[in-house]
Amino acid sequence: MELKAIRTEEGRGIFTLFPGLCKGCGLCMDKCPTQTLGWSEDLGLYGTPVVEPGHSNKECTGCGICETFCPDCAIKVERINKNT
Ligand code: SF4
Ligand code: SF4
Repeated sequence: MELKAIRTEEGRGIFTLFPGLCKGCGLCMDKCPTQTLGWSEDLGLYGTPVVEPGHSNKECTGCGICETFCPDCAIKVERINKNT
């Protein structure tokens, strides 16, 4: 199983997912205001899919709500500051 962190840049967020911590509960997907999170082809702790951004027509805003709600600290979000 690939347990290295998966880093995705999308919209205003740098989204890092730690597969060794993600149990595939989907809570982060429910809480994401832009619904950009969806299931990935990469597998997590229990062999279930992990999450990744880029699954809706709205981009990640870098709000960090997914990171806050993940019970297993499997997500880290850094906001990209764009001066536009
Ligand atoms: S940082 Fe916000 S917008 Fe981006 S994936 Fe997480 S909850 Fe969704
Ligand atoms: S990242 Fe966290 S909240 Fe999202 S599916 Fe994985 S364990 Fe659940």
